[in-house]
Amino acid sequence: MTESPGTYALLLRASSAETVNVGGLGKMTVEPGWYVYVGSAFGPGGHRARVERHARGDGAQHWHVDYLRAMTNLDAVWYTHDDERRECAWARCLRERVGARVPLAGFGASDCDCEAHLTAFEAPPSLRGIEAALHAGHPDHAPIMQVDASTLRERRGVR
Ligand SMILES: [Zn+2]
Repeated sequence: MTESPGTYALLLRASSAETVNVGGLGKMTVEPGWYVYVGSAFGPGGHRARVERHARGDGAQHWHVDYLRAMTNLDAVWYTHDDERRECAWARCLRERVGARVPLAGFGASDCDCEAHLTAFEAPPSLRGIEAALHAGHPDHAPIMQVDASTLRERRGVR
């Protein structure tokens, strides 16, 4: 993972049911399972700065995902160095996967018209299936890479 910009997704795993208050959005019930949050890192430091911050899970609760991150484990990160902002396309693609549900409308989607940039699954979604669907709709989409949390953990103190 480099300082190049692009779109990313966090694969978060919740092991127990809890209720979380998500900033001004309201309460969300977190069920055991997987949550995929899509964001973009086009600011200074690109993917590395943004993902390392999410990976550590510390700091102020600034984005909606920070509230969820505090009660989940990070399993993996998907990312692309595609120059285009792909986060809304990723979010739509995830919502269309079998078994997907939107746990809280508006989550991570304050700046766009998406239903949400967070999708929940009972079973971990496959990157290969999602990448194939994205490439079908966007033939010029750059490759999507996966980095496991264990790899991030070796570099930093990630829980
Ligand atoms: Zn969107």
